[in-house]
Amino acid sequence: MADDETVRNESEGFPNSDAAFDLTGGSPEPELRELIGDMSPDEFRRFGHQAVDWLADYFEHPERYPVQPDVTPGALVDALPRSAPDQGEPMDRILADFERQIVPHVTHWNHPGFMGYFATSGSMPGVLAEALIAGLNNIGLLWKTSPALVELEQVTLRWLAEWLGLPKDWFGMTLAGASVASLHAVIAAREAAKEQARVNGKRFDLDKLTLYTSEQAHSSIEKTMLVLGLPRENCRKVGVDDEFRMRAELLENLIQEDLAGGFQPFCIVGTIGTTSTTSVDPIAALADIAESHSLWFHVDAAYAGAAGILPEKRHYLDGCERADTFLLNPHKWLFTPMDLTAFYCRRPEELRQALSLVPAYLRSEQDERAVNFMEYAVPLGRRFRALKLWFVMRYFGRAGLMANLREHIRLAEGFGKRVDEHPDFERIALTPFSVVCFRYKPAGVDEGRLNAINQRLIEAINATGEFFLSSTVLHDQFTLRVAIGNIHTREKHVERLWELMLEKSSEALTS
Ligand SMILES: *Cc1c(COP(=O)(O)O)cnc(C)c1O
Repeated sequence: MADDETVRNESEGFPNSDAAFDLTGGSPEPELRELIGDMSPDEFRRFGHQAVDWLADYFEHPERYPVQPDVTPGALVDALPRSAPDQGEPMDRILADFERQIVPHVTHWNHPGFMGYFATSGSMPGVLAEALIAGLNNIGLLWKTSPALVELEQVTLRWLAEWLGLPKDWFGMTLAGASVASLHAVIAAREAAKEQARVNGKRFDLDKLTLYTSEQAHSSIEKTMLVLGLPRENCRKVGVDDEFRMRAELLENLIQEDLAGGFQPFCIVGTIGTTSTTSVDPIAALADIAESHSLWFHVDAAYAGAAGILPEKRHYLDGCERADTFLLNPHKWLFTPMDLTAFYCRRPEELRQALSLVPAYLRSEQDERAVNFMEYAVPLGRRFRALKLWFVMRYFGRAGLMANLREHIRLAEGFGKRVDEHPDFERIALTPFSVVCFRYKPAGVDEGRLNAINQRLIEAINATGEFFLSSTVLHDQFTLRVAIGNIHTREKHVERLWELMLEKSSEALTS
């Protein structure tokens, strides 16, 4: 066949034959490659090795750089050319500029002193998978656009569900983040409410739909209301107890009041591991209430869901099996590079009903085993995300991942103990996982001055470049958070942080 083609080309000739189009299926001629500026596989190999070497050094010495760059906003914009180049530039120059111009403006989430927000790690096996994902460049529209992409997603999410003790028959798919996943949950909830209204012969009024979540829930929950065009104030923020957990009796009261006021409650969102303190809502009690009022029950376990693989922490997930939708972020605390959210749905038909829209150019043959995720999701194209989760789950195994999580929890508990034992520090919330919430509270200092002192303290710690901490506000108290979640963090780093804490706190008091 190839031979025939070659013969024909030679005998008939092409009007444009000097443009060097090679129709025999080989790689482009060198001159053409020059013209289109493509990289040769040999060059790719060479620069690929350089990039991997750079990353290996980076992972070996993540402390080489300050955690946070000492730069002013706009500095990088000002330093780079105003326009993109007309002529392609040599790869070695681009790589050199990456190191010289870009890296100094990077906040190093890989630094063992990164303890802000939720510290995360894209572990090395995950990074390798990410390179392969980019290389394959699969775009999962339909099953047939990459059977491996679709089926590996089914396999890895089922594996994960098993580790977490979640129902294995749940529908699972990956999404780009917890915020996007919660949006899908609320879309399904809205669809279910619409269907319920139809069955009961009731009016369905979007402006009357009310959603319930705790005042400690992630902002992405309230944001789903904005995105879906539902009234923002219909996101009811339920009060919490002194351990920052949603109070189920307040939830019940709010629902009763709304029903009496002509509203249509449609969804309850519980959180396992709230963003400020990692508190855990009473999931089973919320499931009871959702059931008794026929409401959709969504559980956001973005960070703490990972802890469900630990037998000693699994009880925090109790009741989850009664959720309609559930999410966790392997990109937060399961060593998978950004981005990969695992999203599970007990009733995928609601999702499909809400989101299936198949244009003529995307019709495909129907086969029960050939799942087309686009029918269940807002995004059409999807990355081959599952490959990195597959690498991570296989490389570490459940035992390796458990060992990492347990070490993080141990380090956090150790730090929390220091806080508890020191008369001038106070813990503000419990530490069920690997985040410690606390503040400096020296004896004899007015409550009114404490917020400013603690603000100065965190600024002083972060200015050292050794650590990066973030803060929150709890009961109007400025609160420091130490979030352990980085695969490179060791006991010595936590010790050093405590040392700095003592040093900088007395400075913050007197400055
Ligand atoms: C981090 C977090 C989110 C947001 O996650 P993204 O993946 O960045 O969208 C949502 N909910 C909770 C509880 C979180 O901790």
